[in-house]
Amino acid sequence: MEASENTHLLQHKEIAIVGGGPGGLTLARLLQLKGAHVKVYERDISKAARVQGAIVDLHFESGLKVMEAAGLMDAFKANYMPGADQFRLVDKEGNIFIEDKSNGVGGGFGDEHFRPEIDRGALRNMLIDALLPDTVIWDSQLVSMAEAGNGWKLSFKNGTIATADIVIGADGYRSKIRPYVTDIKALYSGATIIQGEIDNPETACPEMYALVNNANLIAMDIGKTIAAQPRGDGGLTFYASSLYPENWVETSGIDFNDKEEVAAHLIKYYEGWSPLFVSLFKVCPRFVPRPLNYFPLDQHWEARPNLTLIGDAAHLMPPSGEGVNTAMLDALDLSECLTGDEFDNIQSAIGAYEQKMRARAKMLAQEALQGIEEFSAPTEESMKRLAAQFNPGE
Ligand SMILES: Cc1cc2nc3c(=O)[nH]c(=O)nc-3n(C[C@H](O)[C@H](O)[C@H](O)COP(=O)(O)OP(=O)(O)OC[C@H]3O[C@@H](n4cnc5c(N)ncnc54)[C@H](O)[C@@H]3O)c2cc1C
Repeated sequence: MEASENTHLLQHKEIAIVGGGPGGLTLARLLQLKGAHVKVYERDISKAARVQGAIVDLHFESGLKVMEAAGLMDAFKANYMPGADQFRLVDKEGNIFIEDKSNGVGGGFGDEHFRPEIDRGALRNMLIDALLPDTVIWDSQLVSMAEAGNGWKLSFKNGTIATADIVIGADGYRSKIRPYVTDIKALYSGATIIQGEIDNPETACPEMYALVNNANLIAMDIGKTIAAQPRGDGGLTFYASSLYPENWVETSGIDFNDKEEVAAHLIKYYEGWSPLFVSLFKVCPRFVPRPLNYFPLDQHWEARPNLTLIGDAAHLMPPSGEGVNTAMLDALDLSECLTGDEFDNIQSAIGAYEQKMRARAKMLAQEALQGIEEFSAPTEESMKRLAAQFNPGE
């Protein structure tokens, strides 16, 4: 890596990024390109600790723009999944009623509508491989922080302690850093996803695997949705989404660690759906319930001189295909504010970044909240609207 020799606000500062998700790793890469001293403290035991979930698409104006700025476009092109940006919309019988193949057609890199998909694990590995050796300190689950002089002392679950001049919370939606910045809490959107991971779908549920066809599949009926996506390792991730009461995961009486109990709930809840979908529930070895929460749209806090947030830790919102892209854009904006020559001090740089980040997040969260009910609990009208959008004139 060729680091810039420019002097900037981060000269002689130690930076701790807590959380090695897409936001934190991207920020580490961008800051290292400018010669900053960065460590990423990540909760996972190791690089290979867990399956990262399915695919994400990067967008021209955000994720791909950041890849370019991070000098990682060639690596991205070597790792993305051509064709996985297409999608199928099916009804509860599994009949295809929208087959969208337009995304990549006539497009490709450089086209603003092109949204290439990449496996989350591949994206993570690519970002880690771009960092200086030993940048990521694994098995470092932050439990608390305390101010120490002008910086911070960080304490981890494994008993270790680290110090830093500047801390950046990139530790996702249950951020341990966020409470040191603001006490604004997340709200429930009304929708909950039950996520399932199937490692060998080609043999475990071959007909469903064929229907997904290595792309994005969305199955909708009134009030319920199932989305399924391939993983880069041949596995399949699915999301069974619907509206459930707040705290339903705790009050439902379902033990989400017991796959039989979760499958029984889903089979009953999706009664009348094709056996194709039932096969997903039956063969799935592990489920994760995800109530979809979001931070209030009008959040505000005073900028700190040595602490800030990026990604979900700052602006959790219901999934709308923007979360990873936005976390990366936060990383780019923050790195530019901290390493450019526009600001006299770190607090002003953080303040300018946060203002831009919050304004963008507000707009995206508004859209995500509007979309979540249509996605999780479609109505006859919303499905007709969707069909008309892709089949104009029919
Ligand atoms: C079901 C679902 C589907 C989604 N689909 C998409 C999609 O298709 N496209 C898209 O762009 N976005 C999608 N999103 C949103 C996206 O996953 C997030 O917005 C994005 O991952 C946020 O990135 P991040 O780096 O801020 O946080 P995260 O990805 O959450 O990463 C946080 C990291 O911090 C680590 N960590 C957590 N706590 C600690 C701690 N105490 N100490 C140290 N480390 C810690 C975690 O292990 C993790 O590695 C989806 C979200 C959900 C729930």
